[in-house]
Amino acid sequence: MMTTAVCDRTEQSVSRNWEGRSVVASHSKCEPDAEALAWLDLQSQALEDASPEEIIQWAVEHYHPKLAMATAFGPEGCLILSMLAVIEPSVYVFNLETGYQFQETLDTRERIARKYGLVVDLQRPDLAVEHYEAMHGGPIYKTDPDRCCRDRKLAVLHRVAANYSAWMTGIRRDQSPHRAKAPIVGWDKKFGLVKINPLANWTHKRVWARVVQEDIPYNPLHDQGYSSIGCRPCTRPVQSGDDERAGRWGGTGKTECGLHTTDG
Ligand code: SF4
Repeated sequence: MMTTAVCDRTEQSVSRNWEGRSVVASHSKCEPDAEALAWLDLQSQALEDASPEEIIQWAVEHYHPKLAMATAFGPEGCLILSMLAVIEPSVYVFNLETGYQFQETLDTRERIARKYGLVVDLQRPDLAVEHYEAMHGGPIYKTDPDRCCRDRKLAVLHRVAANYSAWMTGIRRDQSPHRAKAPIVGWDKKFGLVKINPLANWTHKRVWARVVQEDIPYNPLHDQGYSSIGCRPCTRPVQSGDDERAGRWGGTGKTECGLHTTDG
């Protein structure tokens, strides 16, 4: 196997497999070099008109078993899970179980497992909610939600990321201005992983049409006015005409937990 180093540390490399395909492997958090980044960019452009199934297939061919998928059981995640069940059910799928999720979200995990046989792993922070709150003199999701997300989501994803080369998510470009430029494939500097977004150029309407058409299990809170669902204390239903993510951290100015932003 021919290998081209992409940083000073040998753990990270672009390799060419027996079919001549380039494979970016990342076992450290250093930057891939310009050649590797250009390759990812080319792949992303080439996949712009591909179906989500073709993009997932591409991700599996290049990164499995070092490919992981994160889901919070939104309709996009549930849709990707239904595709993964056919394409490669052994891909590692996890949920960031902060301890503050809705019971309906966790029940959706059970329904997905029953329908597709995919058991989504729950990745938890080191401290259970009761210990975390005791340490801070109570919950901090209202007083310092950035810190809470950092401790209960980002730190956990960093821990998972150390074992993988690539991760797949359900983000869409039309979800928010932050996500508007999300590529199909790109380098996620924050977590040191290749990031694959098979639904980046799909719309809210298109995702839901497919979920309904294929009777894919989804979080029942969507039928009660919740458009985007995260942790219980930081999620509320939205009014008709509201922005899709208006119900997240309402009134605080916070719009992202940090998993899909490039800062910090
Ligand atoms: Fe904490 Fe809210 Fe972030 Fe969940 S969404 S980790 S409860 S601040």
